[in-house]
Amino acid sequence: MTVLLRGGVDVGGTKIQAVITTRRGRVVGGARRVTPREGGPAAVADDIALAVTEAATSAGVRVRELRSVGVGAPGHVDGAAGVVFKAANIVGWSEPFALGPTLEQRLGRPVAIGNDVSVAVEAERRFGAGRGVRSFLGVFWGTGVGGGLVLDGRHVVGRGSAGEIGHMCVKPGGRRCACGLRGCAEAYAGRAALEQRARREARKRKTVLFEIARKRERDSLTSGIWIRALEQGDQVARDLLDEAVDALGVAIGSSVTLLDVERVVIGGGIGERLGPKWLTRIERAAAPHTFFSPPPVYVLAELGDLGGAIGASLLTR
Ligand SMILES: [Zn+2]
Repeated sequence: MTVLLRGGVDVGGTKIQAVITTRRGRVVGGARRVTPREGGPAAVADDIALAVTEAATSAGVRVRELRSVGVGAPGHVDGAAGVVFKAANIVGWSEPFALGPTLEQRLGRPVAIGNDVSVAVEAERRFGAGRGVRSFLGVFWGTGVGGGLVLDGRHVVGRGSAGEIGHMCVKPGGRRCACGLRGCAEAYAGRAALEQRARREARKRKTVLFEIARKRERDSLTSGIWIRALEQGDQVARDLLDEAVDALGVAIGSSVTLLDVERVVIGGGIGERLGPKWLTRIERAAAPHTFFSPPPVYVLAELGDLGGAIGASLLTR
């Protein structure tokens, strides 16, 4: 029975989330650790191994009883070799690192590596908001803006990076994106870009964003901080998020025109926490750029915080 259990890990810039799942994607154990900010990829690998071990214990099994372990990592990944080239949001991970082989040695189980957004899309396709439809566009609105594509029932990855909706141009010659291009949706909507803008605005206008961050002892503006600022009627937060929604609307509306998907699934740290009201706003912002009628149905991702880890547990070598 236990031989059917799998481990899945979502590695992010702030946390490492591990889960143990059944064949049907049910979560039967989990553990979470803070992503180390020192020691680079080797330290991250140590903590992944610890998280998997803790998750297995919480599920009442040993790591060696797991069928396999999958890891969703940010950035460019070579799944076959188990190498993560550069994990953009993880401190000190700027060189290729053989994460798969390292973890196999530590855990004694087969380890598969995938891209974090790609595995989250796969989880939504199998067990979440993409269930039962032949096509959808997944948009993960968080620190960056990730995307994934399911067409004719197939998760389309192109040569590895299809679905990068965050780096579609929404304003030619516009703001510089972290990727080096100009005018990307992510440069207007990603949490990292939003925070940079907020810091600049704070020199000119009054905003409670950084006050809330100080009170919560955070050194960056989390999704929760943006939401609290909105609740307090903060105009800077409102203006920047309005601009973010407009940028997402252009990218999503244009994508829908090209792909004619049945659903648009919005997830990610900001996307999920902002909730249904903002889903409607994104839909309205996309409408002027959508050729088709009727438009697709807009829904929130269903698997929340655990989607990435659940999706990773589906990876096989
Ligand atoms: Zn970009």
